[in-house]
Amino acid sequence: MILLGPPGAGKGTQSARIVERFGIPQLSTGDMLRAAVAAGTPIGLRAKDVMERGELVSDEIVVGIVSDRIEEPDARHGFILDGFPRTVKQAEALDAMLAGKGLALDTVIELKVDEAALLERIAKRVADTLAAGQPVRKDDNPDSFKTRLVAYRQQTAPLSDYYRARGLLKVTDGMKSVDEVTEDIARLTSVPAA
Ligand code: AMP
Repeated sequence: MILLGPPGAGKGTQSARIVERFGIPQLSTGDMLRAAVAAGTPIGLRAKDVMERGELVSDEIVVGIVSDRIEEPDARHGFILDGFPRTVKQAEALDAMLAGKGLALDTVIELKVDEAALLERIAKRVADTLAAGQPVRKDDNPDSFKTRLVAYRQQTAPLSDYYRARGLLKVTDGMKSVDEVTEDIARLTSVPAA
């Protein structure tokens, strides 16, 4: 399944809960890219500045890492994609990738949120991260966040129509409480609980 939504919509939070409930791994391209940056791999070196500015990393890089990741044994019984696809090109590449592996998407869930609330949520994420003594994401600052929101509107939002046209899109209210959103997602998901 895929979780769609703008930065700060709660994709990461909800993915972590779905992992527990359904026993399938969360494949977050953002997490994978941050790990590559931290490890200083060639992909990390190429992605670092682009990510810090809040722009999108090239389709070729992310399609490659997702394709490799879904070959891992833990993804055999399904997975949740968080932060991928982010462009129609990536969605098309995902379709081809899944077809080539004999797999198919079950559900695409879009978290609908009020844009005005997003900046507040990011500010809270920064405060929570600092309080936990962890390093803050370099792109969780107002300038990069604005760029991320524009990238979402221009490049990712068209995916709603892409998946709606394929009968896969389910939209849920991401402004409800974290628990309520989890319940809504579970209800909308055709994946049986583990
Ligand atoms: P996220 O953790 O999903 O908010 O992603 C953080 C950053 O990683 C994004 O702002 C992009 O720079 C990059 N990124 C993550 N996923 C993708 C993707 N599917 N396509 C392009 N760039 C991505």
